[in-house]
Amino acid sequence: MKIILKTLLLIALTGLLSYLTACAPKSQQDCGFVQNVYGERISWKGKVPVVMKLHESVPKEYYSSIAEAAEKWNQALGKTVILVDTEDIQKGPTQSFKDTQNVVYFYNSWEAEKPTEQARTSVYWIGDEIKEADIRVNAKNFKFYGMTLQDKGPSKVSIEALLIHEMGHVLGLKHKDVDQSVMATYLASQSDRVSIAATDKKSLTCEY
Ligand SMILES: [Zn+2]
Repeated sequence: MKIILKTLLLIALTGLLSYLTACAPKSQQDCGFVQNVYGERISWKGKVPVVMKLHESVPKEYYSSIAEAAEKWNQALGKTVILVDTEDIQKGPTQSFKDTQNVVYFYNSWEAEKPTEQARTSVYWIGDEIKEADIRVNAKNFKFYGMTLQDKGPSKVSIEALLIHEMGHVLGLKHKDVDQSVMATYLASQSDRVSIAATDKKSLTCEY
């Protein structure tokens, strides 16, 4: 009798466990994307194109390079997933915050302990869906060159290459240090890493 009861209890528990498992979101292959605590890829899902606005701290001579960075992703994917609005310039303090707008900022001050960080992208998501992303460029420790500023100079960084990488983060991608990915952690100065690699395209097609 005792044994039968135990068995029944075990069956009941097993039933409950499988029910709970069914309720939890299914873990996915990362496909190059950042994943949430359930192992789901985070992305904008169907809500593209993502529109990036520019803060007034961004020098005008970089507008075309930043717009081109977005265009490189769109061309690679054959679909418009990200756009740069070069008209509606955002005013106010140079401070990235959660305000439902996706904004690019040029910071003239940067944490003293992180002088080698070229830029930082903050991505906010709920569940598996990205709601907002901001890009901060470290204009304190770095000098840049772009389409209208051809002077590469020693130790200057390609603004287009840098923004391609950061926009990859905006779209949900994580670092990838193989296969000539534009998501490689480090971008050398004077490096024109402006071709989206096959591996990056493949990653994006998992979500877009
Ligand atoms: Zn990065």
